[in-house]
Amino acid sequence: MLNLNDPSLLRQQAYIDGEWCDASGGATVEVHNPATGELVGTVPHMGADETRRAIDAARAAWPAWRKKSAKERAAILRKWSDLMLANADDLAQLMTVEQGKPLAESKGEIGYAASFFEWFGEEAKRADGDVLQSPWPDRKLIVTREPIGVCAAITPWNFPSAMITRKVAPALAAGCPIVLKPSELTPYSAFALAVLAERAGVPKGVFSIVTGDAKAIGGEMTGNPTVRKLSFTGSTAVGRLLMEQCAPTVKKISLELGGNAAFIVFDDADLDAAVEGAIASKYRNAGQTCVCANRLYVQDGVYEEFARKLVEKVRALKIGNGLDAGVNQGPLINEKAVEKVEDHIADALAKGARLQLGGKRSALGHSFFEPTVLADVTSNMKVAHEETFGPLAPLFRFKTEEEVIGMVNDTEFGLASYFYSRDIGRAWRVAEAIETGMVGVNTGLISNEIAPFGGVKQSGMGREGSKYGMDDYLVIKYICMGM
Ligand code: ADP
Repeated sequence: MLNLNDPSLLRQQAYIDGEWCDASGGATVEVHNPATGELVGTVPHMGADETRRAIDAARAAWPAWRKKSAKERAAILRKWSDLMLANADDLAQLMTVEQGKPLAESKGEIGYAASFFEWFGEEAKRADGDVLQSPWPDRKLIVTREPIGVCAAITPWNFPSAMITRKVAPALAAGCPIVLKPSELTPYSAFALAVLAERAGVPKGVFSIVTGDAKAIGGEMTGNPTVRKLSFTGSTAVGRLLMEQCAPTVKKISLELGGNAAFIVFDDADLDAAVEGAIASKYRNAGQTCVCANRLYVQDGVYEEFARKLVEKVRALKIGNGLDAGVNQGPLINEKAVEKVEDHIADALAKGARLQLGGKRSALGHSFFEPTVLADVTSNMKVAHEETFGPLAPLFRFKTEEEVIGMVNDTEFGLASYFYSRDIGRAWRVAEAIETGMVGVNTGLISNEIAPFGGVKQSGMGREGSKYGMDDYLVIKYICMGM
């Protein structure tokens, strides 16, 4: 099943304080390939004790790591990035086998993931302070930006590599050690990163990985006073819980939670471009990204034409095992994910939506689901309020700009949104009126390491990537120096 150029990239142990290790009782969890159901391997089923050990190791490693010059830390991060790119084929294969996404998407993610090490290594050199204009002649006012301390990160399965590097890179660049709990569904991409971290010269204890009991590991990460910062990407429900658990020790937190992105097509849009954008935004990773278009609003005048063009393009998508050439859509992550898509479709159809394409499990079996398009979707249906996280494009109809902005903002989420219009006045008005942290205008793809990724409302707080991303791992210190 796996055919790696460098088989040593596949590790089935956790990585604590620079050592590969098993759970203290030897318990393991199985990892299956969602495309075939085959067993890929196992990972240690660890809990609070192992997590505490990793946190203690991080604390011990912190003084030496923060003392390194920014240039030294940057050199290590650069090497880590280069090693990822040099091993991109193997890393992509590991990702496709554990996560299911097509190989080309996995390879794209490896490039994206590696870019965070490169970017934040460079940003490390610019984490400057300030000297302020003093109101007193005998005192200088100095501001420095210091690493916050031991960090912890919990990441999901939909981007098994990039969600990790987007947190680990700014932490290490800022001078902080970090303990990671990746998703147990996609641990091998994480372990492969640790193999490369060793080769890049990341000192022991600066980056550790624990896997196993999410509740127990999360409980220790949030409860342990040594941890000063938690960064989480995942569901809003778990994000809320972790925020609550961080309250007693007043940790700094970054949360990147659910999306429910709207994708609007106005009458004046370039329809072919809008269809391309919708495909890219909706069906990438089989619809399993937090910035995937979840609700497609199409203005009355172009509704039928857009629907027809979209269906035509979606029909051409090829489903299959992500390792096979030409495949555009792999399986969903698991049975639960399929059931949610089925539930949203059934609910919409029962309330009057019209099925345009797909709507059922694929003949390929396992968790493959046909790319689906629904028309005449309305705001009383589940798809309007919940993230489907699957290959379902629900088309809503609207008449005016004002009406659609009301519908788009009628959600507790505020991560990403997209719209297509060639009217420059409208482009500015709508971009400003939409309550999301990110807006794509005439494009369905917005993520890169240079731009600030993050949401408003209940989609979370903090920004990842970009020149703003380091701030989440730094604290400001004011020094008043008398002379
Ligand atoms: P998803 O639906 O994307 O799986 P989750 O929020 O359930 O979203 O999972 C994201 C990450 O959070 C995963 O690594 C998962 O193991 C972890 N997780 C789930 N529940 C908890 C919890 N109670 N405490 C800490 N981490 C958790």
